[in-house]
Amino acid sequence: DSALLEIKGLHTSFNTFDGRVRAVDGVDLTVHAGKTLCVVGESGCGKSVTARSILRLVEDSGSVDAGTITWHGGDEPFDILSLDAKDRRLAKLRGGDIGMIFQEPMASLLPLRTIGAQLVETIRIHTGMGRRAARERAIELLGQVGIPKPHERIDAYPFQLSGGMCQRAMIAIALCANPSLLIADEPTTALDVTTQARILDLIRSLQAEHRMAVMFITHDLGVVAELADEVAVMYLGRVVERAAVDELFADPKHPYTKALLASVPVLGRDRGRDLPTIPGAVPNPLHRPSGCSFHPRCAEAVAGTCDVEAPPEVDFDGRTAECVLYADREGAAA
Ligand code: SF4
Ligand code: MG
Repeated sequence: DSALLEIKGLHTSFNTFDGRVRAVDGVDLTVHAGKTLCVVGESGCGKSVTARSILRLVEDSGSVDAGTITWHGGDEPFDILSLDAKDRRLAKLRGGDIGMIFQEPMASLLPLRTIGAQLVETIRIHTGMGRRAARERAIELLGQVGIPKPHERIDAYPFQLSGGMCQRAMIAIALCANPSLLIADEPTTALDVTTQARILDLIRSLQAEHRMAVMFITHDLGVVAELADEVAVMYLGRVVERAAVDELFADPKHPYTKALLASVPVLGRDRGRDLPTIPGAVPNPLHRPSGCSFHPRCAEAVAGTCDVEAPPEVDFDGRTAECVLYADREGAAA
């Protein structure tokens, strides 16, 4: 499968009152065309910052300090991070080739414009459809995301809709230009189970129809089991394990992944379950532990090694884990 989006060596940091926080600390990730990559991990592990870095949405309080994010969805591949903020390729990606949905719908809906105006405008900019056709398409999409009476609701302002309805409207806006990549940052967490299921179904059917790729950020392992082709497990700003979904669930390599999976009894029927509690909290990234950042919580930590040395990234025929336990494997990075 061909790479659609390739993140290499991404470092993103933020200024806080207490100092500079390295929220993303050397992330490599690839989203393949038409496939779903789920990014999983506890909150504070840098999942959202990774996603926001892609469309350069961190730039008010943070900065991308290093790395490349290559977009392969156009005629020529280019590094999104090297584009000038006014480059029209960036505008074409935002809301066009890359749709983005957040947990908080108000972050992306314009309060003073009707849902319909926002949809129609986005559709017209990115597809060149006429006004009437765009409105038809908008009504159709609102119906697909589960908004009742879409031909009436299309003329509502965000404040006239409930939180759940705004969430669906935002999803319709993200999908309306038929993006080749949808980035979804915990988009269903706040919704009831029925609506969640509906939205996941919608994402899947659009994927089948348009070969849309999805980068889905979640802490819900039931969603991962149901949606993912590939999974990246993040811990404290790094991807600690990466594998095809079946391999990951059947044979997790990294002790953090093992701990995450430890209490998921029935895969696929467990939607809505939060990640199990692993002893200890995610450390404050301002005070990153020495050696392997997971060592204070790791059940398999090797004293004298894990608290001192950064673990190698080990390659297992296409899947990877960043852990010293596998350092002797052939092909392991030094
Ligand atoms: Fe645990 Fe050591 Fe592996 Fe880190 S490197 S996950 S501390 S065994
Ligand atoms: Mg988040």
